[in-house]
Amino acid sequence: MSDSSGQPWVVMKFGGTSVAGADQWRAIAALVAERRAEGVRVLVVCSALAGVTDQLLALAAGEVDDDSGLSGLRDLHARLAVELGVDPSPWLDAGLETLATALASVSGPRRTAAIVAQGEWFSSQLGAAFLDGPGARAAWVDAREALSVAPEPDPESARAWLVARCDVAGDPALESRWRALDAVLVTQGYVVRGPDGGSALLGRGGSDTSAALMGACLGAARVEIWTDVPGLFTADPRHEPGARLIPELAWEEALEMAAGGARVIHGRSIRASAEAGVPLWIRDLSNPSGQGTRIVADPAPAAAGARAVACQPHMLVLLLQNLDTRQQVGFLAGVFRVISDRGLSVDQVATSETTTTLAIDTRANHLEPEGVAELVAALQPLCSVEAFPGCVGVNLVGRDARLALHGLAGTRAFFQEHRLLMMSHSAADRCVSLLVEAEGAAALARLLHSTLVLGGAPARD
Ligand code: ASP
Ligand code: MG
Repeated sequence: MSDSSGQPWVVMKFGGTSVAGADQWRAIAALVAERRAEGVRVLVVCSALAGVTDQLLALAAGEVDDDSGLSGLRDLHARLAVELGVDPSPWLDAGLETLATALASVSGPRRTAAIVAQGEWFSSQLGAAFLDGPGARAAWVDAREALSVAPEPDPESARAWLVARCDVAGDPALESRWRALDAVLVTQGYVVRGPDGGSALLGRGGSDTSAALMGACLGAARVEIWTDVPGLFTADPRHEPGARLIPELAWEEALEMAAGGARVIHGRSIRASAEAGVPLWIRDLSNPSGQGTRIVADPAPAAAGARAVACQPHMLVLLLQNLDTRQQVGFLAGVFRVISDRGLSVDQVATSETTTTLAIDTRANHLEPEGVAELVAALQPLCSVEAFPGCVGVNLVGRDARLALHGLAGTRAFFQEHRLLMMSHSAADRCVSLLVEAEGAAALARLLHSTLVLGGAPARD
């Protein structure tokens, strides 16, 4: 056998739709073989089969009867195993038993995590069994051996179990243990070790973050996120036919895009890979020769100014007016206390001498209309409040975002017809954000995309 001690690791993550069918698994096997031929060590990180996490959450919430839920999951996984020529008996019954035990446990977030984690257990066991063949050995490894939750102030909170955080760190002992297995390794995304040694979850879409954290643990050369879209685009290609693929961008730009509404990749995975210095590469499983999008520390110089337009819907804009100057000291602190007492985070702030505008992402904050009414009532003793629900942040993202400002001249006719509720830009210079009411948002996004992103901003010097 050739000496493989120096081979770098590549982490390959496959999302729910990429692990749900036999054809996709055959494509995965071909990609893994290709990587092995390149002389790299492969760790495959699996999401649950498409729809399974939702089914498990419904089971945990008691919305589905236990027996029919369990038999549905058995059929789904057994059918795929048979299609792939894999014997499901070594893992399917054991996994269903673990699931039944979790369903019978005391309710709470710990139970929900134990139930939902089984989705990734099934998909990764299935994947390991399929990839293990005469040509190449594959072995299942438990993600909980590598990733553990960071301590939380309240270890019993839903956050600690369902939206857990993990520190980004290299783990040389784990790396040499896993290297010694001398196989293609397959593991669960989304699942990490909870405070009691059981399963905790990284939040919906968290398998991307698992892959980035695994990349950090192993000191990987790169993390490949295999999904069902070609990569990150200059605008949402479902709404903007002129949108172009972005072949390469910086971590900070990708983070702004994820925060600003681009949904291709989990924002926390970008942060984790930036912290670990491991490049991320978004690829399309249905077109493996496509170039995808590389997210790296130092991308090739591109045109300065806006790289992309990302829209963030469901924004609540609050216009606060306080004409009483005697109350100025501590005014904003009072406003923010009311907001933080309700567990809400503020996305953007703009201020003038007597007015302040705040923007809150209602979806990310789980803020319903009753909650908005209650918040407005609680702020009213401090100032007059006008609320604009359902607004959209039209975000121009890119290094040197300020260089996009010249393009705003082209929006004059648009703003003769529409209100601009707020505009913000910070010294980090990664994003210029315009908050508008929903009805004009798509037109504004299109206008900015065609003039600023496609229109060719002046080249960076
Ligand atoms: N299966 C989990 C979800 O659907 C995690 C993931 O796929 O990233 O959210
Ligand atoms: Mg995903």
